[in-house]
Amino acid sequence: MQVLDNAPLAPLTTLRLGGPARRLVTAHTDDEVVAAVRAADAAGEPLLVLGGGSNLVISDAGFDGTVLRIATRGFALDGADLELAAGEVWAEAVARTVVEGLAGIEFLAGIPGSAGATPVQNVGAYGQEVSETVTEVVAYDRVAGETVTLANADCSFSYRHSRFKADPERYVVLRVRFGLTDAAGQSSPVKYAEVAKGLGVGIGDRVDLTKAYEKVLALRAGKGMVLDAADHDTWSAGSFFTNPVLTAEQYAAFAARLGELTAPAYPAPDGCTKTSAAWLIDRAGFTKGYGGGAATLSTKHTLALTNRGAATTEDLLALAREVRDGVRAAFGVELVNEPVMVGVAL
Ligand SMILES: Cc1cc2nc3c(=O)[nH]c(=O)nc-3n(C[C@H](O)[C@H](O)[C@H](O)COP(=O)(O)OP(=O)(O)OC[C@H]3O[C@@H](n4cnc5c(N)ncnc54)[C@H](O)[C@@H]3O)c2cc1C
Repeated sequence: MQVLDNAPLAPLTTLRLGGPARRLVTAHTDDEVVAAVRAADAAGEPLLVLGGGSNLVISDAGFDGTVLRIATRGFALDGADLELAAGEVWAEAVARTVVEGLAGIEFLAGIPGSAGATPVQNVGAYGQEVSETVTEVVAYDRVAGETVTLANADCSFSYRHSRFKADPERYVVLRVRFGLTDAAGQSSPVKYAEVAKGLGVGIGDRVDLTKAYEKVLALRAGKGMVLDAADHDTWSAGSFFTNPVLTAEQYAAFAARLGELTAPAYPAPDGCTKTSAAWLIDRAGFTKGYGGGAATLSTKHTLALTNRGAATTEDLLALAREVRDGVRAAFGVELVNEPVMVGVAL
């Protein structure tokens, strides 16, 4: 276990933003993770669990407590059952499952961060979410003071949400178990129109697993959604806003304001309709590259807010507020941030 005082956090985030941690503890084993959590809890010390720092917006003042960096490693396959240690690099783990010919997480290729964070916001992309394959999450329960195993049904997964995100002070994820599929080198059914088009197949078709994986990586790279230190468009936290899910009443009010425009609409069985945050942002006048200062929208994707190199967290938040308020004024829809805010609020 490594311990550093007054440690800079910005280099540990993909936005490269945020002040120092009063104490930074790096844990390499599950036992070290549990010991560090117990020590912080016993001392009444604020605790921030850190994976790859790809979904965090940390205050310029930093974090006045212990930041616990999860650096555990472990990739274990038993047939098509996969167990990942929380600190495994997600994108590398996905690549290995594709090499093994296993389907189930191939459309989640290239997503930054750690395996342990994937159940937290039910990571998803291109028509796939981890909730479809997670079988169990092993976590340290800070309330019970013991390690627990939660079945998929106990994780309360929903769109970019889970029990872990709802109750951030309670669980520290140690291991995540997935039930993948050995489909003889074939992918899961393609669900996303852009992927289907790119592969020249129909929705519901299966394709060569490696081709599916490579297509997703190429699509993501074109949007600045694969980390590249040399490209400021990737100095982001990915999508800054979730896609709004509107009730029937909210959707009717929204549709009435659209006039001649047709917004993307994905109706759900419960009567709600999801629309596209990227579309709303663009149509409200915040086009790619908007901002022109130290923090701007990505030049490749309106949904990513980026640090051009010299931004502060306050610069980024000022831009986020401008976008949120502009979308509200134009369409009456309230955008909600996807990344976790530490010591700041929109
Ligand atoms: C370029 C880019 C593209 C992205 N694309 C996508 C995408 O397509 N889909 C998507 O869903 N997300 C995407 N993201 C967001 C992000 O990559 C994911 O949310 C990722 O799972 C965060 O992992 P992390 O390890 O970096 O978490 P961190 O940013 O370190 O932490 C995020 C939250 O999870 C908590 N946490 C982390 N590890 C643990 C643990 N072991 N136990 C308990 N809590 C924990 C933290 O306390 C914090 O609240 C993208 C981000 C970037 C920068």
